Amino acid sequence: MKGTVMSGMRPTGKLHIGHLSVLENWVRLQEDHRCFFIIVNWHALTTAFDETEIIVENIQDMALDWLSAGLDPAKSTICVQSQVKEHAELHLLLSMITPLPWLERCPTYKEQVQELGKAGKDISTYGFLGYPMLMAADILVYKADTIPVGRDQLPHLEFAREVARRFNYLYDKNVFPEPQALLSNVPVVPGIDGRKMSKSYNNYISLSESTEELKKKTKMMITDPARIRKDDLGHPEVCTVFVYQGLFNPEEVDEIEQKCRQGAIGCVACKARLAECLDDVLGPIREKREELARRPDDIRDMLEDGARKARAAASAIMEEVREVMNLC
Ligand code: SF4
Repeated sequence: MKGTVMSGMRPTGKLHIGHLSVLENWVRLQEDHRCFFIIVNWHALTTAFDETEIIVENIQDMALDWLSAGLDPAKSTICVQSQVKEHAELHLLLSMITPLPWLERCPTYKEQVQELGKAGKDISTYGFLGYPMLMAADILVYKADTIPVGRDQLPHLEFAREVARRFNYLYDKNVFPEPQALLSNVPVVPGIDGRKMSKSYNNYISLSESTEELKKKTKMMITDPARIRKDDLGHPEVCTVFVYQGLFNPEEVDEIEQKCRQGAIGCVACKARLAECLDDVLGPIREKREELARRPDDIRDMLEDGARKARAAASAIMEEVREVMNLC
């Protein structure tokens, strides 16, 4: 095993194709790393503390999506954060040694409070301010040293590294490794209207989309507005369908670009081909998901088993933490 990986997602509902490359990366990592993949439902509470019933449903959806995309409970530890209380204990203990300004200067904090405030959500809470602290605890409670992140998450990882350094320095013991970023080159998949893919814009393609829905959604995609007739010369660089062709139909993308510029392919045919390619990618995921969804008890048992394994790993580390902090 090359190292210990920890990563997680907030259970916000069914995943969309923008999450696919993250999951593919996890599937690769589980082959040669010790992996902890956590459905972080406590993190969801920081912004959705009044939507607890929805979070429960979303956990089930997320587990189904992860397994359908290839995460394997025999290779990775997959669990729900709130079933491993050690995350909360470490969060509490680390909060005792972390200066408040470290949290207040977090680049996204004020921005998100304002943004969600405009949407009528008051998240000026202690829990939301402590979000990066909980993330640090999620990582350090397994002594994870390899964290797959995008560039936008680097400040949070740096926070976890600072907390680990401070703990080791204060208690004069090298308890926590400083987690390293494994920068993943995650391509941005735009929404079908060309904006950021988001549930709130209703412009997403979920991982479990049916063949019919894929056809419908690709038909709705924004193309080059200058093309009225099939033989008008196209500009693929302004077309959302073309971005998708590059991601999901890489073998044919050069040919499509050429034909588009020459007015030798129509947008209807181009979209139909994209729908087929998306179906090739999502079809096996959808089929596996349907099969797993018929066995909810197995999913629950898998998560409980994952939590047992996670607790065993985390409790050994927490014993060490308590000892150096002279706690009984
Ligand atoms: S032919 Fe394809 S790439 Fe060209 S504008 Fe139409 S949909 Fe876009």
